[in-house]
Amino acid sequence: MIKNDEELFYKRNNVYDVIDENEEKEMQTLCDEYRAFLDTGKTERECVYEGIRLAKENGYKNLDEVEELKPGDKVYKINRGKNILLAVIGSEDIEKGINLVGAHIDSPRLDLKQNPLYESNDMALLKTHYYGGIKKYQWTTIPLAMHGVVYTKNGERAEIKIGEDENDPVFIITDLLPHLASEQMTKKMTEGIGGEDLNILIGGRPMKSDDAKEKVKLAILKKLNEKYNMTERDFQTAEIEMVPAFKAKNVGLDESFIGAYGQDDRVCAFTTLKAVLEVEKPGRTAMAILVDKEEIGSCGNTGALSAFFEMTVAEIIEKLKGSCTITSYNKCIANSACMSSDVNAGVDPTFESVSEKRNASFLNGGVVLTKYTGARGKSGSSDANAEFVYEIAKIMDDAGVVWQTGELGKVDQGGGGTIAQYVANLNMDVIDAGVSVLSMHAPYEITAKTDVYMAYRAYKAFYEGR
Ligand code: MN
Ligand code: MN
Repeated sequence: MIKNDEELFYKRNNVYDVIDENEEKEMQTLCDEYRAFLDTGKTERECVYEGIRLAKENGYKNLDEVEELKPGDKVYKINRGKNILLAVIGSEDIEKGINLVGAHIDSPRLDLKQNPLYESNDMALLKTHYYGGIKKYQWTTIPLAMHGVVYTKNGERAEIKIGEDENDPVFIITDLLPHLASEQMTKKMTEGIGGEDLNILIGGRPMKSDDAKEKVKLAILKKLNEKYNMTERDFQTAEIEMVPAFKAKNVGLDESFIGAYGQDDRVCAFTTLKAVLEVEKPGRTAMAILVDKEEIGSCGNTGALSAFFEMTVAEIIEKLKGSCTITSYNKCIANSACMSSDVNAGVDPTFESVSEKRNASFLNGGVVLTKYTGARGKSGSSDANAEFVYEIAKIMDDAGVVWQTGELGKVDQGGGGTIAQYVANLNMDVIDAGVSVLSMHAPYEITAKTDVYMAYRAYKAFYEGR
């Protein structure tokens, strides 16, 4: 029996009321590092490079180059340059299961089309096809940077990164002046800027040439050729992503927030990486996976629906036991558990009407445990079992992690999904656990530093406590 009436009530905490001075110091250091990570990793590939760098720095070996595994070994595996899986082999039999944390490293952006470059009215522009769920009007009149990979016809590979250095030029999508926008302004917000209006200004200086028809386009092609040895044809095989050129910054006079592009879901990717890199000699094998393509349905060979994870688990079992039987594999997966680390929508003071505040997540409320996602009656959701939610909540409490629950918006307001359902389909327990975000999917998203810190603490507690 509980004697104190106050204890009968659930009370949500603000992390600042709970953490001490040392924890706050740790939080500030972590968030400085996080901002640097956001500036370094603006595409899924760049996040993988950063993952490899950190893994190597922490004594991880490439699984492809390891023949046999034993407890305590640290390995990583790359899938097509767009996924990284890290594992620390546990002292227990791998059939007892894995502790997995999974985040995604793709973010909404504008991809160049395969024939992007054209000239119009003495200007050169690039056609784009947006990637993920964006409010298109938000992507006009902001500085954009160009990131990507190009192969020239004779097989040279070039990495493109323009717009991130202080001295680099940036790119931009123009919008109509208010003086002439009377028609545009009466349109619905979904139509004010159309998908085919997201054209990127890339040049305006014609070549001095009498015979060339498109002199500005020609000048741009010459520049690209000088820099990357590429021709117009090579756009057709390239992958080029336009992302906001902004740097990550502290936000607010009290510097309590972080503003940056791509925090969905690099906030969880970064904290997941930090947590797994600190795992030493675990009981159960600790694993982290950073996947691509979440924003477009987790499909494709680099999304969470690809067999990469299963194949890598099988490879690890084989390198531990000499062979991987179906029984070993099945036992391992069935005994595994996953924190699907993805963001949730925090209550926004300006738009609080879309949230049901008894069940929404709040900035500075700590890591968000999301039992289910989905839309219209939980459709398309992995709904975590009470047994597992209890287990995770207990691990969080025991480790002093501040946590809250969070549902994405009011019932029937909309909804969303994460990789949780695809992990659950493999037959393991999974719960979404991540950071509350404001302005999600906008070119500049907002998180609270305390939540970033608590996400890191949550994943660490999961690795250590389960
Ligand atoms: Mn996400
Ligand atoms: Mn998203």
